[in-house]
Amino acid sequence: MFETLTPPETDQILRIMALYAADERPQKVDLGVGVYRTADGRTPVMAAVKQAEERIWQSQETKSYLGLAGDPGFHAVMRDLILGDTVPASRVAALATPGGTGAVRQILELTRNLTPDATVWISDPSWPNHSSIAGYLGLNLRLYRYYDPETGGLDRDGMMADLAEAKPGDVVLLHGCCHNPSGVELSLQDWRDVGALLQRTGAIPFVDIAYQGFGEGLEEDAAGTRILAGMLPEVLIAASCSKNFGLYRDRVGVAFAITADDETQAKAQATLAFLNRQNYSFPPDHGARVVETILTDPGLTEIWRTELREMREGMSATRQSIADALRAETSSDRFGFLASNRGMFSLIGATPEQVEALRDEHAIYVVGDGRMNIAGLTPDSIPYVARAVAQVMG
Ligand code: PMP
Repeated sequence: MFETLTPPETDQILRIMALYAADERPQKVDLGVGVYRTADGRTPVMAAVKQAEERIWQSQETKSYLGLAGDPGFHAVMRDLILGDTVPASRVAALATPGGTGAVRQILELTRNLTPDATVWISDPSWPNHSSIAGYLGLNLRLYRYYDPETGGLDRDGMMADLAEAKPGDVVLLHGCCHNPSGVELSLQDWRDVGALLQRTGAIPFVDIAYQGFGEGLEEDAAGTRILAGMLPEVLIAASCSKNFGLYRDRVGVAFAITADDETQAKAQATLAFLNRQNYSFPPDHGARVVETILTDPGLTEIWRTELREMREGMSATRQSIADALRAETSSDRFGFLASNRGMFSLIGATPEQVEALRDEHAIYVVGDGRMNIAGLTPDSIPYVARAVAQVMG
């Protein structure tokens, strides 16, 4: 029977990972998958995480089941981290999920349950899994203009014009910070304007925040999400702890549904817990407990904040270095946007052929749409990459 299966096309990011692993050239550079790396190319366990794990190991006496929605203590620390005191806890339904992807999936399932004929509005471009999951669930999709390849910045007018067409009950997916793949951020005024537009259209914002702390800072990166939460009665949120806590494989995420009042919160909470039950019952706990341990202990929080700041500053410095190296190689400022983008990713504007040439001729791996993981660059590889990019993109 299995012979009737048509294998789905492999996600382009996972395909690049496999090609890179099989490449035997010593000079190979992995700028594909979205994983943070230190200057010497490692993705270490954060010190705060190690210490939290040690405490858990020493004190944990059972690994018996928890509640279906996960640990309320984890919900609380994540609510504080993302929303601060913007909305009362009594309006926030929360669900621990396996990673940010799990949160995206559960929120989109909730959307389908609520309004099966809703359209999900996704930025053009976006993390490919957004449209993949929404499409898999049978939801309608519309892309809205976001990135302007001409300027390397935001197509603000295009975005506002497209989103003005959203209908009540539609879901508008926004990246909370560090837009993947473009690195192009919304200003605070843009967030306010999008909020006002959503008020007018009746569409619901869905903020995917996977890189809090990788852009300008923990508070700054949550500012857009908080603006929407302050302006609108209903907001959906998916958050990931994969990057900012380095807990990639432990699968730590959280889904929030901010509701208009406490009574509705209870309904949303029960529905979210039901969705966990249908998909995998109890969410993973270990990584969530690590996050909770860190964020409830001032000493560990400080260690974590310091590590996160070092990561963020390292990425900013790398952005500046690659932009400088490309300015020198091309005698132009056409890659200047690399310094002003935020987060791990930027689009270098390469055609599919140029992406292939970077891979085949120079063993440099970027994603097919020209997405470069800035954190994959090291002081050693920057001159090499800059020369190759200048040569290939001429
Ligand atoms: N949203 C976005 C925009 C992402 O880039 C990612 C990670 N690539 C995720 C969500 C989810 O990550 P994870 O499931 O590994 O937590």
